Amino acid sequence: MAKHRSSGRNATRRTQLIGLTAALAAAAGTTTVGLSSSATGPANASGSTGLNPSQAEALTAARIDRRDLGSRDASRIDLSLAATRKAAAETAAKQRAARLAANATLTQRRSLALAAAKAAAAKKAAANAKALAAAKEEALAKAAAIKAAAAPDIVLPTTGYHLTARFNQAGGRWAHNHTGLDFAAPMGTPVRSVMAGEVIQADFEGAYGRQVKVRHSDGTVTSYSHMSEFDVSVGDSVEAGTMVGRIGMTGNTTGPHVHFEVLPGGGSPIDPEPWLRKHGLNP
Ligand SMILES: [Zn+2]
Repeated sequence: MAKHRSSGRNATRRTQLIGLTAALAAAAGTTTVGLSSSATGPANASGSTGLNPSQAEALTAARIDRRDLGSRDASRIDLSLAATRKAAAETAAKQRAARLAANATLTQRRSLALAAAKAAAAKKAAANAKALAAAKEEALAKAAAIKAAAAPDIVLPTTGYHLTARFNQAGGRWAHNHTGLDFAAPMGTPVRSVMAGEVIQADFEGAYGRQVKVRHSDGTVTSYSHMSEFDVSVGDSVEAGTMVGRIGMTGNTTGPHVHFEVLPGGGSPIDPEPWLRKHGLNP
């Protein structure tokens, strides 16, 4: 009797154990639930077949727990994924920001370097311009000095000459005594104004032939006669040494020479030799 009861109790326990196992298995996984369902019959969650109310309740609770756990897990996974994604996005954003900042810094550095280079170039250009201006000024000063040295106040009327007739010399060729100083030189030799002044005559003048007259600043007039050509016109400004014509034989002359006269105030001629010497020249 006790044995029978015992075996009956055991059977009940076995059933309960199967039910609990199924419930636990169901809680552990879907596949096991499927197997467990087939083992306990085609029962649904509340499964009346082979399950007492407490077992069904346990199973339901377990399923709810599992579902909740699952959904919590899923939520956790979702949250975790979202957090990971968020973190990754934040990291990416930070990296992007860092890159942008780096680029900005690089750009800034480049602009600064460019500005500095421009400033340096401008400074250099200014220095160059200053140096150039200084050099130009120096060159101009030198040129002026050279010109001053090369352009004396007075020169002789021609070069490569010999004197053939002096002032006041008597001779058959002149109506009166000689009124100037004759510089004989080869035909075509340049004839130059002895001082700076203004050309007041450039014309054929009878016995004087082609004649140029220059009035100087002190009013003294110098004249150049018998020339073969004119190289200035009336009104021209000339410097000491400016070519006014060339040695020739025009007018009353027996050989190529320039008849040079000095007329103080444009009046009567005086002896050119002492006048030239007075100005530092020795013809
Ligand atoms: Zn003469």
